[in-house]
Amino acid sequence: MKPLAVYVHIPFCTVKCGYCDFNTYAGMDALKPSYRDAVVAEAAAWSQTLGERLTTSIAFGGGTPGEVAARDIAAIIDAVGRAWPLAADAEVSLEANPGTSDPAHFARLRAAGVTRLSLGAQSFDAAELRFLDRIHSPQAIAASYRAARDAGFASISLDLIYGLPGQEPNAWQANVREALALGPDHLSLYALTVEPGTPLAIHVESGQVAPPDPDVAADMYEWSVAELARSGFEHYEISNWARPGHRSMHNQVYWTDRDYLGPGAGAHGYIDGMRVENIAHPRRYIARERALTGDGRAIAAMYRPDDVMARSDWLTSRLRLLDGFEAAEFEARFGTTIEAAVGEPLQAAAEAGLMDLSPRVRLTERGCLLHGEIAARFLAHLERTAVARRR
Ligand code: SF4
Repeated sequence: MKPLAVYVHIPFCTVKCGYCDFNTYAGMDALKPSYRDAVVAEAAAWSQTLGERLTTSIAFGGGTPGEVAARDIAAIIDAVGRAWPLAADAEVSLEANPGTSDPAHFARLRAAGVTRLSLGAQSFDAAELRFLDRIHSPQAIAASYRAARDAGFASISLDLIYGLPGQEPNAWQANVREALALGPDHLSLYALTVEPGTPLAIHVESGQVAPPDPDVAADMYEWSVAELARSGFEHYEISNWARPGHRSMHNQVYWTDRDYLGPGAGAHGYIDGMRVENIAHPRRYIARERALTGDGRAIAAMYRPDDVMARSDWLTSRLRLLDGFEAAEFEARFGTTIEAAVGEPLQAAAEAGLMDLSPRVRLTERGCLLHGEIAARFLAHLERTAVARRR
């Protein structure tokens, strides 16, 4: 049976953090039961379209899925399993914030079938947490981590954010060491980015907050790469490190051009080469699903990317993985060699020491810091050559 990964978006948060531009909302908790019903209806409707598949992973992201009742999470897992049976080794992951889930809740989530927990620690410094608008304390991270272990979670990931304005390197290093001291199986480290339209962006534009310094962030990243290697972690994706056997199965689907379905408000899917994007607002998403019960879809956009976008998306996502890809894989997917498609920027990146081209096409550790720029150059080259071909 063809495999399928399922990303379930939970758009509810207790507080909307000032740096966050995700499709999430505070103050909508009353919608949770009807939202659950809408997601269940959407999975059932998609099962009619997709036919037989094997669910290899379900990921609950958001938002704060850790604050959804375990019975609702169980109902959604059951609905997905009814639509497409769960593989025996299926990964079911869920994001939770420290301090918002007690041990009994973690135990109920485990019993509901969640196998992997991702805790949004972000920082072990109280002032940094306040700057980020996070409502948990540093102590709550350790308490939630222990509660999750006690509940039987054998795979726990911690998220941390680096490159905060004014953050000293030793403050960042202390955060990483505190995280390591807990003994997590997986770490995700993200540079703080100023997303347009967020309160953080407004504060930076008005001069109230200094913009993050990319050079300082790069130093923190390089230090982390070395420190986590010393601590036995495999650096397998630009922002992700795992102990052996603990890589995120679900996220690897995104980076390797495989199918995933995205039930939920504003969720994105990628099915048989088609991109699907749902209606973003939870109320409109629920209303749409209700209106179409039996054949429910709350799709805002569905399209097949053109050749330029398909190649650019493929390269951008495959290069996020540290072991990259074989050049023959690109040719098998697109019917042309990678040299013919993006030879010029590829050679330039290799000559600058940002990429290896053999035996696999991959970013070097230094290239990881410039992934966005390298991807933009590939896209610009693909667009230029497509225009030239049309002339
Ligand atoms: S808790 Fe996470 S998803 Fe929710 S607003 Fe904050 S950063 Fe965004």
